[in-house]
Amino acid sequence: MSAPSFSEIVRSHSTRAAELMGVSSAVQTILAEPKRELIVHFPVRMDDGSFRLFKGYRVQHNNILGPYKGGIRFHETVSLDDVRALAAMMTWKCALMQLPFGGAKGGVTVDPSTLSRGELERVTRRFTHDLGDNIGPNHDIPAPDVGTNAQVMVWMMDTYMNTVSESQKQVQRAVVTGKSLAAGGSQGRDKATSQGMIHCLQRWADDHRVDLAGCSAIIQGFGQVGSHLAMLLVRLGVSIYAVADKSGAYKSAEGFNPHKLVAYVREHGVLAGYPRAEPISQEEFFSTPADFFFPAALQNAVGPAEAERLDVRLVVEGANGPITPEAERILLDKGVDIIPDLLANAGGVVVSYFEWLQNRRTERWTLAHVDARLERQMNEAYMRVSLHAADRGIDRRTAAYALAVAHLAEAYEERGVFP
Ligand code: GLU
Repeated sequence: MSAPSFSEIVRSHSTRAAELMGVSSAVQTILAEPKRELIVHFPVRMDDGSFRLFKGYRVQHNNILGPYKGGIRFHETVSLDDVRALAAMMTWKCALMQLPFGGAKGGVTVDPSTLSRGELERVTRRFTHDLGDNIGPNHDIPAPDVGTNAQVMVWMMDTYMNTVSESQKQVQRAVVTGKSLAAGGSQGRDKATSQGMIHCLQRWADDHRVDLAGCSAIIQGFGQVGSHLAMLLVRLGVSIYAVADKSGAYKSAEGFNPHKLVAYVREHGVLAGYPRAEPISQEEFFSTPADFFFPAALQNAVGPAEAERLDVRLVVEGANGPITPEAERILLDKGVDIIPDLLANAGGVVVSYFEWLQNRRTERWTLAHVDARLERQMNEAYMRVSLHAADRGIDRRTAAYALAVAHLAEAYEERGVFP
């Protein structure tokens, strides 16, 4: 029997949760499939004058709670199955966080590090153009994900705004979130996912009477999420002894200085070559004893072999779906606690919601205001998940999915199915 695909894994989580919550089979059937799936092929002129054909996706999983919402991923492994899985996860994440959004995800199969800045801009603009009115501020709102950033969002916004009439332009700014401040982005959006993870970590530490100062961590993935997380952790007195990205794994006996490490990665693109680190094997990385492990790379990056090696107390999932179900079973059996993706990394979409609100109301919130609202929403969601898990005697992932599925099922039961 072949291993389940990513979308099958996500579906098995939601099916288990739906059964647990007694969701009707009609609603389960509706939620099992995305509402719409778009695949586009588009040519882009490369710097050498040649043309290359790219493949892009947007999967709109569900919009019963509000406009479709979710990131755009630029990565060489992007496939329809991955985008389907990630779109469904956005539906569950927004429902769990009680945001007025549905779930979607998009992507282009490309390694952005192989593109020049001009090529990246042309890929982004042409993809946005091909998405056409399948996106929109009241319909489907993209955001950054793996391999995209605020600059990519600004190009998307600009391309989209140029397709509407002059009088409509300004209200279209909310078509994407995760924009730069100058283009109408929100304070705190760049660190929001990592900040949300920190709030979960702090609540967990309160519950377990753990003093974070003096604790240790290892981080897998050093993109937006991993790098902001490293800087926030060290402020709390948590030392980082091992880090890994696609260039390899590295350790530092005295603990990394995240500011120097982040500055290095911003300049060189990867961790490789950082002078104050010692290269180690993947096996050694996963075996590094620490209090916390933060997977912030890709889905299914932690399988059974990695789970066997991990010697930590808590895993906080920065990536979406980083741990395979088999690996999760091993970790839970070892007594490792897991704060699941739907909750742990939801800070990103929560602050995306704040950005969308600010754009629509022509407001500008201060960083202190954004941070305070984010903290409140993360703490409330953390409490909901923890209480539900404790009440039912289930793990936190199942509890998070259960709350999300129940919220959606309620909306369906009330509205019924058209016609
Ligand atoms: N890509 C992020 C996620 O997976 C953020 C999505 C958003 O802000 O819409 O949650």
